[in-house]
Amino acid sequence: TIKTRFAPSPTGYLHVGGARTALYSWLFAKANQGEFVLRIEDTDLERSTQQAIDAIMDGMNWLGLEWNEGPYYQTKRFDRYKSLIQQLLDEGKAYKCFCTPEELEEMREKQMAAGEKPRYNGLWRDRDDHPSDQPFVIRFKNPQTGSVVFDDKIRGRIEVANSELDDLIIQRSDGSPTYNFCVVVDDWDMGISHVVRGEDHINNTPRQINILQALGAPIPTYAHVSMILGDDGKKLSKRHGAVSVMQYRDDGFLPQALLNYLVRLGWSHGDQEIFSLEEMIELFSLEAINKAASAFNTEKLIWLNQHYIKSSPVEEVIDHLQWHLAEQKLDVSNGPSLAEVIKIQADRVKTLKELVEISRYFFEDFTEFDANAAKKHLRPVAKEPLKLVQQKLADLADWTPEAIQAAINQTAEELSVGMGKVGMPLRVASTGGGNSPSLDVTLALIDRQKIINRIDLAFE
Ligand code: GLU
Repeated sequence: TIKTRFAPSPTGYLHVGGARTALYSWLFAKANQGEFVLRIEDTDLERSTQQAIDAIMDGMNWLGLEWNEGPYYQTKRFDRYKSLIQQLLDEGKAYKCFCTPEELEEMREKQMAAGEKPRYNGLWRDRDDHPSDQPFVIRFKNPQTGSVVFDDKIRGRIEVANSELDDLIIQRSDGSPTYNFCVVVDDWDMGISHVVRGEDHINNTPRQINILQALGAPIPTYAHVSMILGDDGKKLSKRHGAVSVMQYRDDGFLPQALLNYLVRLGWSHGDQEIFSLEEMIELFSLEAINKAASAFNTEKLIWLNQHYIKSSPVEEVIDHLQWHLAEQKLDVSNGPSLAEVIKIQADRVKTLKELVEISRYFFEDFTEFDANAAKKHLRPVAKEPLKLVQQKLADLADWTPEAIQAAINQTAEELSVGMGKVGMPLRVASTGGGNSPSLDVTLALIDRQKIINRIDLAFE
């Protein structure tokens, strides 16, 4: 059975690179009726924080990348790692190395001086004259001949000569197991069939395969995903704006838009741009992931967000809008239904944040008008058409878009002025600014008496 995992180190928030890797890993599991494991790689006690663990899970939850198993924590599995390290020692597949930091430094300097690549020279590999009371690390006895070959699903066949690999430390002098060893044991114990991860780990893979072999464990299939670059061609980082998944939530993006954006960033299916989650699952394959680095393009993400704000089921948009309403302290309990507001505002915004920003007047009165709009449209000459249209609106039998439109038309006709001479002052007076959807549908959603009062306010 197919089983994949996402294995973040909890040293910061979930960033878009990690989220894309998680998405690919999740999709591959889903596409193959497999399972997806979340594993928290928290062995670096100094840099791992509970806050980061929470932030990563928040990001995963917000994106909807739910895990079937876990979260596992490496710090809770130290006994297991240590017993396997002991097993390797007993079998002569690992050994204690008593080199002091000074000796290692000297080794390094000599090698550099000789123009060689610095590497541990195996000094303690075959010795048993162990000192009794000196600190030691435990090293894995890497094979010295032959090579490691694996078929990366994205990058193809990779071969590394064992002579390139030195004897990796698997246990530090304080007794803690090292990162590469924990990963190997976990992937084995958790039954991971496919390791999908960032290409920054590709150099670890041959070493990990050798350890798996020494443990008698099966070798998973590997797929190393390329980097994401900013628009300046450099590795994506904070400098490029929001890179934290939750920052995109805060900025008003829908998770579906970010997922769609991330899946296309390095994966394609013909020239299709829009993918529902179901389509992604159906069409996804590791082989179709691009091995070239991908450049992050905020414009395209915004375009997708607009698309999903306009075309997602309105209940879904409302669900995600709640957070922004709370954040911007907009109380929508008095006023039209959100669904109706969204219907007429959706194609006017790029983000949910903007949607809230421009929808305030549906729910709240205001005491000031947008200065520029007022300067242009609430001049003394506007008073006459406003007063007349106010009277007509007050007298309408029905408060419907049709009736409202008729009142505006009649006002313009009676005063022999263009529609804009009535419409724009009315727009500014009733919405506070110069931008709103068509006045008939906008006003119809707002309580009539409120509109009448707002027009009074315009000429106070
Ligand atoms: N913990 C590693 C990281 O966050 C991932 C290791 C792996 O996927 O094998 O970069």
